[in-house]
Amino acid sequence: FDELDQAMANVGNDWDAVRGLFGGKGANLADMQRLGVPVPPGFTVTTEACNAYLEGGGVFPDDMWDQELRALLAIEKNTGKIFGDSENPLLVSCRSGAKFSMPGMMDTVLNIGLTDETAQGMIRLTQDPRFVYDAYRRLIQMFGAVVMGVPDEPFESAIDRAKQKAGVSADTELTAEQWHLLTEQFKTIFHSHTQIDFPQDPVEQLKMSTEAVFKSWNGRRAVDYRNAAGIAHDLGTAVNIVTMVFGNMGDDCATGVAMTRNGATGEPGLEGDYLINAQGEDVVAGIRMTRNIDQLATEMPESYRQLQEIARILENHYRDMQDMEFTIEKGKLWMLQTRDGKRTAQAAVRIAVDMVEEGRITKEEAVARVSPGQVDFFLHPQFDNQAVAEARAGGKVLARGLNVSPGAAVGKVVFEADLAATWAREQGRQVLLVRPETKPDDVHGMLAANGILTSRGGRTSHAALVARQFGKPAVVGVSDLQINLVKRCMTVGDLTIQEGDWLSLDGNTGEVFIGQIKTMEPDIKDPWLIKLLEWADRIRSLDVMANADYPVDAGRAREYGAQGIGLCRTEHMFFESERLPHVQKMIMATLPFDRREALAALLPFQREDFAGLFRVMDGLPVIIRLIDPPLHEFMPDLVELINELADLKMRVNHATNMADIDSLLQQIRGKERIRQRTVQLQEQNPMLGLRGVRLGIQIPELTGMQVRALFEAACEVTREGIRVFPKIMIPLTTHANELKRQREVLEETAKKVMAEQGITIDYKFGTMIELPRAALTADRIAAHAEFFSFGTNDLTQTTFGISRDDAESGFLMSYLNQDILPDNPFATLDRDGVGELMRIGVTKGRSVRPDLECGICGEHGGDPESIALCHELGLDYVSCSPFRVPVARLAAAHAAL
Ligand code: PEP
Ligand code: MG
Repeated sequence: FDELDQAMANVGNDWDAVRGLFGGKGANLADMQRLGVPVPPGFTVTTEACNAYLEGGGVFPDDMWDQELRALLAIEKNTGKIFGDSENPLLVSCRSGAKFSMPGMMDTVLNIGLTDETAQGMIRLTQDPRFVYDAYRRLIQMFGAVVMGVPDEPFESAIDRAKQKAGVSADTELTAEQWHLLTEQFKTIFHSHTQIDFPQDPVEQLKMSTEAVFKSWNGRRAVDYRNAAGIAHDLGTAVNIVTMVFGNMGDDCATGVAMTRNGATGEPGLEGDYLINAQGEDVVAGIRMTRNIDQLATEMPESYRQLQEIARILENHYRDMQDMEFTIEKGKLWMLQTRDGKRTAQAAVRIAVDMVEEGRITKEEAVARVSPGQVDFFLHPQFDNQAVAEARAGGKVLARGLNVSPGAAVGKVVFEADLAATWAREQGRQVLLVRPETKPDDVHGMLAANGILTSRGGRTSHAALVARQFGKPAVVGVSDLQINLVKRCMTVGDLTIQEGDWLSLDGNTGEVFIGQIKTMEPDIKDPWLIKLLEWADRIRSLDVMANADYPVDAGRAREYGAQGIGLCRTEHMFFESERLPHVQKMIMATLPFDRREALAALLPFQREDFAGLFRVMDGLPVIIRLIDPPLHEFMPDLVELINELADLKMRVNHATNMADIDSLLQQIRGKERIRQRTVQLQEQNPMLGLRGVRLGIQIPELTGMQVRALFEAACEVTREGIRVFPKIMIPLTTHANELKRQREVLEETAKKVMAEQGITIDYKFGTMIELPRAALTADRIAAHAEFFSFGTNDLTQTTFGISRDDAESGFLMSYLNQDILPDNPFATLDRDGVGELMRIGVTKGRSVRPDLECGICGEHGGDPESIALCHELGLDYVSCSPFRVPVARLAAAHAAL
């Protein structure tokens, strides 16, 4: 490990390249050595060698093995021990280490170098045959699993039988002789599964382990994990060969894992678990009850102090929270690994902010370190407080465990990863994966589940790490749970839960509830998040607006940081029950008088809608889009109408009373008129039909009413002292003349209202750009528009010629599966097509009106990748749903960094 400087120089002093070559673990071991942190002597076989081995069909590249043996010699010199020596044997570990940490890989063989012969040497040296046989049987078991694929169960049941026979309950109570016997049994188990003897040549052990780690790169679990985590498949893994140090040589030994800050909350201070007299995997597997790292301060104060100091050195060096593995051998502390610690979204935000305040990183770095996805977690469901209070009061708390990954999860209990994946993926059921503990084998089931529950394990257990990384709510270490994997049930006290029963778990509190608990919108008032987003706001150049139709949504959007309303879809207001009859009457009207009357009835509603929005958005712009959808959407369903007519006609036939007959006939005539008008309004391609600005041109009184309502509302709230900046947006323009004509009519109304009210409103007229022709002729359109808003839902639909309403439940998904399209264009802006039209639109529009304000209000406005494109295209703002506003604020800052 002491040749890092040379290796760095070889790759142009590029740390990323060093990590790529040595893997994260190897690079950090070498780096720790450089920092003067105590690391056991060792070396790394590079990822280059792994890739050459895999590409060469399983043959070590030239000279690799000789180099490995030479490096082993260097360790021997350094330690004074000799590999395979019967007097003073060197033992090493062999561990995988890819560029990115991958819990999906089989990765560790410990105690390599132990054989029947060297074991005797070790016994002479340590005077501790119990320790030596325990180490030897571990080697056989791990070597069996990693190198030869022997399952754990036969080994574990051999231990259980030995304990039963000896009448003891803990591994530590087995004697040297019993471990010796077990070692022999392990060799037999090994032979019966592999048909070969356990290798007695240490060099052979090392060679086979190196190969196994290389091969594990392409193991199913590793491939699954990379697919889920978006890690490239061609990176390869490095192999680290490190001198063994032992945490299980007595009560002055320990082993543990520690994070420099709390991985769930981000709170500063060491956090972790350890075990006295144990080996590393005992801690992570959660088989024995670990102790909290705080206890180390009293049990081994000197080591604890040193660990704290190392934590400080490593955080200063890496400028990030570290996840460390350590072993204390006979009072001496050794660091076995350090890496950037996995953390929840909440912890990621808090750590980034704290690190700025501690002067370790810049605000820009803090903003860059948090992903839009992590901000999104703050917006994930939590349990409804009331429902939780009721569940607690009603005795529905089944058990409590460690709250290792936040969020609320509800699902049916499943005890096995494969079944969890089947139930969730193939049958669309909501599941919770419940296991005694999880292993890399279970990752696919964990990903499919809504949440994870284990009866064993600590904060650093596999279950906790994986859950946190993927944002799955998880509760672990629920020791009251007795899980019976054979009978497929679990018990807590005398209560039994069967597979398929509903449970709810709270990753924030660690509570597990019986049944389904109502979830609710989360509270995003996390002080660290607020600060981080404020920093993001100062970095970004894009404004973030919200799509909101009602005052409550607008209020929430504002609370989340929206700088205005980028789209209010006014037609949504027309569908409300007390308004729809007036809308229908307006559509049915044949005489101008009837139409005016219906519109006059709608006007007060619209005025109040707008006034409400203006009040909430006091001081901020509000873009109100005039009615867009085709009119038939407001009419009753045709099939229902026909059924109603048939029913009325039947009743006429059976009626005897003249008055009844008259009334029924009148109803029939009314419904028949509605039916005829509805049929008349039907279009083959309604999305390309009478909608948007075309409606306003056909029925100018309709949009005229909306504009009157808008200006009356603006004047009303202005009188109340509200500052109002309305922008009137005309949808679906395709030709400049449409806009010119419509704007002339509407502006006349606007002026009239302002004159009537004696108030001048600061307003703007603009248009949506949601048809290709509009983008292509944006210079002409801009002559009549003070702002553009790209309606990328329709623009995507019309550019691709793919229906936005049908395609995602139809062929589009198969296009994505076949990689015909790289992304769903309705989710992520199509850079080459739609993006290009937007570029033309912006450029041409600003060529005639340099201060033309351009934004986006299609769904893409909340998608981080699309936001980056919007930034690149020089838009002024993005507008998205209120819940995406915080995500968009961060994504816009990332785009600007
Ligand atoms: C759009 O088309 O992108 C848009 C915002 O309008 P709507 O979704 O209402 O058609
Ligand atoms: Mg549209």
